[in-house]
Amino acid sequence: MSTGRLIIDLDAVVANWRALDAMTDCKTAAVVKANGYGLGAANVAKALFKAGVRQFFVAMAEEAAAIREELGPKPEISVFSGHMQGDTDLIRELGLTPMLNSVEQLTHHLETLPGHPFGIQLDTGMNRLGMEIDEWAAVAELALAQKPRLVMSHLACADEPDHPMNPYQLAQFKKMTDGIQVPRSLAATGGVLLGPEYHFDLTRPGIGLYGGLPFDQASPVIELDLPVVQVRDVAEGEVVGYGNVWQANRASRIATVSAGYADGITRILSDKATLYHGDTPCPLVGRVSMDLLTIDVTELTETPKKLTLIGPQQNVDDLARVANTIGYEVLTQLGARYNRKTFGK
Ligand SMILES: *Cc1c(COP(=O)(O)O)cnc(C)c1O
Repeated sequence: MSTGRLIIDLDAVVANWRALDAMTDCKTAAVVKANGYGLGAANVAKALFKAGVRQFFVAMAEEAAAIREELGPKPEISVFSGHMQGDTDLIRELGLTPMLNSVEQLTHHLETLPGHPFGIQLDTGMNRLGMEIDEWAAVAELALAQKPRLVMSHLACADEPDHPMNPYQLAQFKKMTDGIQVPRSLAATGGVLLGPEYHFDLTRPGIGLYGGLPFDQASPVIELDLPVVQVRDVAEGEVVGYGNVWQANRASRIATVSAGYADGITRILSDKATLYHGDTPCPLVGRVSMDLLTIDVTELTETPKKLTLIGPQQNVDDLARVANTIGYEVLTQLGARYNRKTFGK
């Protein structure tokens, strides 16, 4: 088999949820958008449901289908993008709770699905999703009379604990919601770590469940091993891969590994990434191709059968740093071709 092996540990996802839940005195939901940050939304949601999670968030209504099918009618599934034109049937049939982002969405929802659950998303300064303070002031009374399930907002800088935007958004959120008789939510993973003031009635962690920063105490969730297809000796002065960008400055052994940018291993990692054989680092040399990587294994005393890209020696965020991105992107880009081994609950 030449596909990489992606091991997904659902027990670690559950442990991370429990750890984040234990940091608050309020309820803890789970964000499973983008197919559970690339790890399989249905499997992740099933494991978390067994562990007691009763509220899930997705970005788009379509993403809820697999989760509803897996878990049945019990858990609440909320949609960050709210109630878009064309979503009405899905929202009704799957029993979703849209987080309404604008007066337009509120009106559309109340007209098309009167009496159907909804929440409200407020903008507290990020300027991405949600009603602004004036819009909210205009419709709050009407919306609150319909008993929304949740009023929420989202922090722009929660991964930087000392950023002045955090207390600013907290103050805005309080100004817009203090005194209402509806559950409130402000914190994702970063907000949980900011402390109790940010917790309100419900937190919405995503990345922390999947083992990523800013939750630096997270248990690692994935390991990615790539099979070696071929190993060859190259003489000093020979070149490797597209564009001849790497040239051996000594007699070297090069392993060709099966995985490439079509599997989410970005070309930015060309000549930069490190794979591991046990504890021994093996540098990626030359360009990342669509399906293949070339790795300098000269330092190894044995011929490797596989090399590890994500594992004990290098976690998702370590790899993300080399690729000049964040763990979120590494996870959500994990390819569809990997042989996925999901274990745990
Ligand atoms: C993605 C998202 C979350 C989860 O954020 P993490 O940083 O992954 O914990 C929570 N709320 C909203 C609105 C989001 O878009």
